[in-house]
Amino acid sequence: MDRIYLDNSATTPLADSVRAAMEPYYQEVYGNPTSLHSFGQRARKAIEDGRESIAADLGVSREEIVFTSGATEADNLAILGAAMAAPKRKHVLVSAVEHHAVLHAADWLASTGDWMVERIPVDRVGRVDPDTVRSMMRDDTVLVSVMAGNNEIGTVQPIEAIAALCRERGALFHTDGVQAIGKRDLSLDGVDLFAASAHKFNGPKGTGFLFIRKGTPVVPLVHGGGHERGLRSGTENVSGIVGTAAAVRLAITERTDVVERLLGYRERLVREVLKIPGTRLNGQREGGLPHISNFSFQGIEGESLVMRLDEHGIATSTGSACSSPDLEPSHVLVAIGVPLSMAHGSLRVSTGRQTTEEEIERFLSVLPNVVANLRAISPFKVGE
Ligand code: PLP
Repeated sequence: MDRIYLDNSATTPLADSVRAAMEPYYQEVYGNPTSLHSFGQRARKAIEDGRESIAADLGVSREEIVFTSGATEADNLAILGAAMAAPKRKHVLVSAVEHHAVLHAADWLASTGDWMVERIPVDRVGRVDPDTVRSMMRDDTVLVSVMAGNNEIGTVQPIEAIAALCRERGALFHTDGVQAIGKRDLSLDGVDLFAASAHKFNGPKGTGFLFIRKGTPVVPLVHGGGHERGLRSGTENVSGIVGTAAAVRLAITERTDVVERLLGYRERLVREVLKIPGTRLNGQREGGLPHISNFSFQGIEGESLVMRLDEHGIATSTGSACSSPDLEPSHVLVAIGVPLSMAHGSLRVSTGRQTTEEEIERFLSVLPNVVANLRAISPFKVGE
């Protein structure tokens, strides 16, 4: 049985072309990029070429790209680095549906007692209203963080409008772009900080970057040899950086075609899955990220559904990553007002550039029976 991977929001397979680009940087070009000799200088050139390539693809300057170990680090550098660089401004706004890399960094700021952090509420589909942001902003607001696209439900945020508002009020604007690269139209106009992670768009794991607009005050979190212009010390992940640049280029080059194909899959998924009684779609019906669909099924646990589908060779995820032992439902589903019973029965289906129509059809042929079987053994009945 061929296994089907529908968990591309969690991570994606490395693209062949990205792997080929990285290959020489394991054994052939292995110098330390800081070394003065030719071994080191070849590695240095690979890093600077990668930086140049990403900057060109995003329409920014090369000095504005800081390589990190991925988006968790990039989000932390954005939130903590920008807040700590502005000691006189003590108010931070983050949307209620941010990834934990943003939320928990902001919670840590609040826990010091020196910063006041507030969460921006979202509407029923998970969208932040720029007018709400406007009403929550204060004279001492240093930073606003609203993601470009949500990793659980795929909701796309009006980042251009929020960026403009922040500029008007003199606050910095950070956006977590992890799920958005190659999946939505992205302009960094007015954005001060932007985090990305290569493994979400067919690059390697453990590598990513933070865009920091020139002149944005940010203090480093990792101290040492002064790499990345002092903003992120540590010997660079040369192959990872080369892979990140290759993956950004691939994602941007392929975007129009991939988005069109994935939107077609999403249309079909939403239409067919909603035919199953007691089912709801979480997030935007239209206009969301093309690769993410999130459903809730009344009367069943998302975890059981994921495990049963896995027995059929289909990999999905509960949107409600129950990371705590007390099985707290997803903060994203809670923020959009999904009733607790439905929030526990959620399923995230996320497609990728390698997903085929046949795979979608096989998923759709298996799902109704799996749901019916789980409901048959559930103490809760649909409609209760
Ligand atoms: N932000 C979002 C929206 C994500 O989906 C993820 C990954 O799950 C991250 C941040 C963290 O990225 P990384 O795995 O590179 O640390």
